Amino acid sequence: MFIKKFIDKKPFLISGPCSAESEVQILETAKAISPITDVFRAGIWKPRTRPDSFQGVGEKGLKWLIRVQKELKLKVCTEVATPYHVEACLNAGIDMLWIGARTTVNPFYIEEIGQALKGVDIPIFIKNPTHPDLNLWLGSFERLNKFGITNMAAIHRGFFSYTKSTYRNDPQWEKIIQLRKENQNIPILCDPSHIAGNTAYIEDICQLAMDLDLNGLMIETHFSPKNALSDKQQQISPENLYCIIKNLILRKSNPTNKENIKKLESYRKVIDAHDEKILEMLKLRKDVVEEIARFKEKNQITIFQLSRWFEILKTRRYNAKQINLDEEMISEIFETIHKN
Ligand code: PEP
Ligand code: MN
Repeated sequence: MFIKKFIDKKPFLISGPCSAESEVQILETAKAISPITDVFRAGIWKPRTRPDSFQGVGEKGLKWLIRVQKELKLKVCTEVATPYHVEACLNAGIDMLWIGARTTVNPFYIEEIGQALKGVDIPIFIKNPTHPDLNLWLGSFERLNKFGITNMAAIHRGFFSYTKSTYRNDPQWEKIIQLRKENQNIPILCDPSHIAGNTAYIEDICQLAMDLDLNGLMIETHFSPKNALSDKQQQISPENLYCIIKNLILRKSNPTNKENIKKLESYRKVIDAHDEKILEMLKLRKDVVEEIARFKEKNQITIFQLSRWFEILKTRRYNAKQINLDEEMISEIFETIHKN
C-alpha cells in the first residue's frame, strides 16, 4: 500500500464543531480557533442513530466552510458517506474529507467513495469502523489506494463495546499499536471527543495519544457547546482547546543523552532475561500438559474438567492480587495459555 505523508507536524490538529449549524456558528468558531488549528472540521451531513435527531444542514453548509477557507486561510474538512457527498465537496472546493465510523464498516460504501474520488488525490481521513475489526479498517485504505488515493491518515475514535465503561467508545489502545505494526506508514490521529463522549476526559486521552506517539488529534470544538445541536456533552469551547493543547507534554520517543540511552538499555536487558524465563516456564508447563493429555487418553478420562479450570482461574487471580498484579490481566493470560 502506498501512503504519502501529508502530515508534517505533531500534533497535527483538526478541530471545529461536530456539525455545521449556522453560518454564524461556523464563522465564530473558526475565528476563535484559527490561530491554533491546522484544519477546521464540521459535519454537513450527520449520520445519526435516530432520524428525529439533527441530521445536519446539508449542502448549504459547504458554502460556510468555503468562507472559512477563504476569509481565514484555513484548510477545511467534512465527512463524506456517499458518492454524492464526495461530488458536492469536490465541486465546492473542500480541502480534505473524512470517512466516518459508520461508513468504514461497509466495503461497498468505501468502494463507491473511492470511485467518486478517482483522479483527485486530496487528503482522506478514515475513522475506524465502529467494531474493532482491524482488517476492515486496513481494507479501506487498500481499497482507496486502488483508486489512486495516497494522501491518507487514520482516525482512532474508539470502538463500540458491550461492557459499560466511563467512555462513550472503548479506546482499545492495543488495536492502535497493532495498526502501527501492520502498517507503519499510515499516520494516526486520535479523536478524543468520540472516545470520551464527555469533555471531562478529553485532556487525558489527548496526552495518552501523544505518549503513544500518534501524529495528531481531531477535537470537537464549538463556540457555545451547551447550545450545540449534536454531541453537546463532548464538545469543548475554544478556550478549553487552547488550554488542552498548551498543556500537552510532547515526550521524546527515545532518550537522546548517552547516560539515559545506557540506562534504558540496561532496563531492557533485565526485561529480556525475565521474558526468557517466562518462555522457559511456559515450555515446561506445556510439556506437563501434553503428558497429562496422554495419561487421560490412556485412562479414558475426559480432556477437560470444568471444576479444575475454575480452580486454576480462582487461585491464579488470588495469587496475582497478593503480589499486586492485575487480576483481569492474569485471567486473560491464563485463558490464552489454556486455549492453546
Ligand atoms: C463526527 O466526527 O462527528 C462523527 C460522526 O464521528 P464518528 O464517525 O466517529 O462517529
Ligand atoms: Mn460528533
